[in-house]
Amino acid sequence: MSKDMDLKKHIRSIPDFPKPGILFYDISTLLAHPKAWHTTIERLADLIRPHKPDVLAGIESRGFLLAAPLALALGTGFVMLRKKGKLPGTTVRHTYALEYGTDTIEIQQDAVHKGARVVLVDDLLATGGTMAAAVELLESVGAVVPTAACIIELTFLEGRKKLKPPVETLLQYD
Ligand code: IMP
Repeated sequence: MSKDMDLKKHIRSIPDFPKPGILFYDISTLLAHPKAWHTTIERLADLIRPHKPDVLAGIESRGFLLAAPLALALGTGFVMLRKKGKLPGTTVRHTYALEYGTDTIEIQQDAVHKGARVVLVDDLLATGGTMAAAVELLESVGAVVPTAACIIELTFLEGRKKLKPPVETLLQYD
């Protein structure tokens, strides 16, 4: 795919969403452009491959859109980290603090083998709270998380400082 494609041109920023003062980076326009989306998946796959994952874990819901094609490209399995109450069977939960209140993510207890190398995938790294919680959840079921990966990093929020593993990001905004 296109080596010199500028992927930032395919990401739309929407002011005051979901609340006043927030600039929301919207990947809908990237998903809608087949060449840009293919390039995104190929570039992320190239960043993730050296970490030798057994499995990719996507964070609901935009993380699923990325982790599923990346798992196919890399020949790995794919597991879902979902919001509370969505997964059947025995699950393990992790609750974490938000700016106001808390949130909970879940994984099926038998989703990954002990010691499996699980790379975490989401669309965007902001404060790092979501990814940090996902790393804790994965480690609590015995996974090893060699890296996390996402398309967009809001560097001024320094979210990567909150994370134990390194983070691979395609596009940085400051
Ligand atoms: P964090 O926990 O503060 O790092 O926020 C990251 C989570 O919020 C990810 O799951 C993102 O999907 C979502 N998020 C935060 N800001 C944006 C944005 O500007 N665009 C898309 N998703 C965002």
